[in-house]
Amino acid sequence: MKIQSAVFEVSASALRSCPPPSLAEFAFIGRSNVGKSTLINLLAERKELAKVSAQPGKTRLINFFVINGAWRLVDLPGYGFAKGAKVERADFNVAVADYLEKRSNLLCTFVLIDSQLPPQRIDLDFIGWLAGCQVPFALLFTKTDKQPGQVQASIARFKKRLAELEIAEPECFPCSAVTKKGRAEILDFIERTVAPHLPSTAPKPPEESAPDDDSTDDGTGSVVW
Ligand code: GDP
Repeated sequence: MKIQSAVFEVSASALRSCPPPSLAEFAFIGRSNVGKSTLINLLAERKELAKVSAQPGKTRLINFFVINGAWRLVDLPGYGFAKGAKVERADFNVAVADYLEKRSNLLCTFVLIDSQLPPQRIDLDFIGWLAGCQVPFALLFTKTDKQPGQVQASIARFKKRLAELEIAEPECFPCSAVTKKGRAEILDFIERTVAPHLPSTAPKPPEESAPDDDSTDDGTGSVVW
């Protein structure tokens, strides 16, 4: 997929202030410093796109970007879990939990994992919560340029932990902003996933006995989920 346009749309502090669910959405989330802003900029080929999300007051907000006028890239604030007690619901940010649980047009959540680290409890807890809510997700292993020889072992270790937790194995993408590894694969995945949800742009063949002005087609090209 070629990125022709990437436009910041809005920041939302709650599910009710998110834009209308008219476009398919792909969300990105991870712990602070995992490389989320860098990866978003790499995908969109815009140096400063994710900078919007880092502006004061915006780091706890859900930031929406419209890509190619066809789908939204959603930059979610990072997560953290209450220490100790088992969490029933992610309490990192009510708005984010609400968004992930209830957003009807969210097609996939990309969870970013630092490929240099052993599996982290906080990432596993979050993924466990996501899987429990039946939110579709994929894993992006970041910074693979740093220890290229270790990446496959790191991914295998993470998958093993997921299997132990009885979490179905998700799609995994190794990626690096330095080598651009993973960019094409992630965009291909998005393209494949979004295709059935795009409003049809193909011209319709003329109908033989088309009604004059009271066609049942409302012509809005609205998307059905
Ligand atoms: P965020 O807090 O998750 O948005 O993380 P950033 O995108 O700000 O990245 C955190 C740090 O990791 C920065 O110093 C980036 O330059 C660095 N970084 C991000 N992605 C990569 C990568 O693919 N390779 C390397 N070597 N460094 C990266």
